[in-house]
Amino acid sequence: VQYYLNNIQTKAHLNAFVEVYEQSALAQANRVDAKLAAGKAGKLAGMVIGIKDVLCYAGHESNASSSILQGYESQYTCTAVQRLIDQDAIIIGRLNCDEFGMGSSNENSSHGKVLNALDESRVPGGSSGGSAVAVQANLCTVSLGTDTGGSVRQPAAFTGVIGSKPTYSRVSRWGLIAYASSFDTIGVFSQTIQDNALVMEVIAGHDEWDNTSSRKPELPYSQLLHFDKKVKIAYLKEALESPMLQAEIKKNTESVLKNLESDGHQVEAVDFPLLEYILPTYYILTTAEASSNLSRFDGVKYGYRSPNTHNLESMYKLSRSEGFGEEVKRRIMLGTFVLSASYYDAYFTKAQKVRRLIKEFTESLLDDFDYIIMPTTPTTAFKFGEHSDDPVSMYLEDLFTVQASVSGVPAISVPNGKDQNGMPIGIQVITNSFKEADLFSFCNYLN
Ligand code: GLN
Repeated sequence: VQYYLNNIQTKAHLNAFVEVYEQSALAQANRVDAKLAAGKAGKLAGMVIGIKDVLCYAGHESNASSSILQGYESQYTCTAVQRLIDQDAIIIGRLNCDEFGMGSSNENSSHGKVLNALDESRVPGGSSGGSAVAVQANLCTVSLGTDTGGSVRQPAAFTGVIGSKPTYSRVSRWGLIAYASSFDTIGVFSQTIQDNALVMEVIAGHDEWDNTSSRKPELPYSQLLHFDKKVKIAYLKEALESPMLQAEIKKNTESVLKNLESDGHQVEAVDFPLLEYILPTYYILTTAEASSNLSRFDGVKYGYRSPNTHNLESMYKLSRSEGFGEEVKRRIMLGTFVLSASYYDAYFTKAQKVRRLIKEFTESLLDDFDYIIMPTTPTTAFKFGEHSDDPVSMYLEDLFTVQASVSGVPAISVPNGKDQNGMPIGIQVITNSFKEADLFSFCNYLN
């Protein structure tokens, strides 16, 4: 703990941590020491973990990196975090992110931007940028992030670490401040597959506080990492041919596929004509869900209330106008629009139908193939400000991560070489729902 506390201090300018739980982490370390001495320590004894600022932790502040939640302290602890503590992990602090998980660069945070430790003029990715940099820069062993449309995998790719997104419903969402409830998952950042699998097996599993959480039994992923079979791998033609894709990433992905083929695996190109519809579907549905989820922040129940109000209506208006950031307001308006009576069928209902098609296509492909492989991101980490004036160009950064999110299937990004500027490239592996054990073992082999 002391080692990481020192690192956090020397690398404070990266702005990964928004709060460090120095005293409680040291106290927990002492308790774990005593348990270890007594031979009674849990699976994660002494593992030092940081948590994204959208996960509630009783007695501590959680802001979702939004001014509207400034000063908000949760009454209860997120199930995933509680399960880490129950296995004697040490929670070292709270990590910066894009406001309510909305963004791909960690530039939309009330706590300020997070710097990529490999090149401080570049973004770390988002929305879990702080969680990615904390692992990248050795500020903790593992971190939790959330992945609604790529927010663990994309920053993992931009910072050169491993990032996993479980099957939707595999990990309880209790205590996760909602962005888009039918997409939100809690994922894990780590330097090794072993650590990632171990933490995932601890947080996975049914939770009586989240009735959408799956009742399927969770497996000891970290003990099932051995991989020695020949598998069938698909790659999507349209993804590799996308004009958005940086040439070095394309080359890199092709060489991974080639190597797998020469190792005796079956590698096949498949058509995926729906690729161009995934992003619009994702952004229609997530903004709709967000506009509904975020209606609870009204200046009454949580956090910030404008001091300039003179009646009920102006309290709502001013608290929300002053409390939310630009990107969050854009999405609330977009979401309200697609849910409005005259446009509901044209946008929301239509997008639900397209979601179904994408999900069915992806699942049936994964019945025929063990894995889908594609780049995690179309580009490597870009410079600060590069996409700030054009939200659509920022949304396009999520091109390859949203398929797994729209379909609810698990996916992992593993580092796979660097571009000419020395920035990491990520390769993404996707498999069918609840096949996390197969996913971890294959990534262990790839890595
Ligand atoms: N970048 C995507 C978005 O802004 C994904 C965010 C996420 O996964 N939380 O919606």
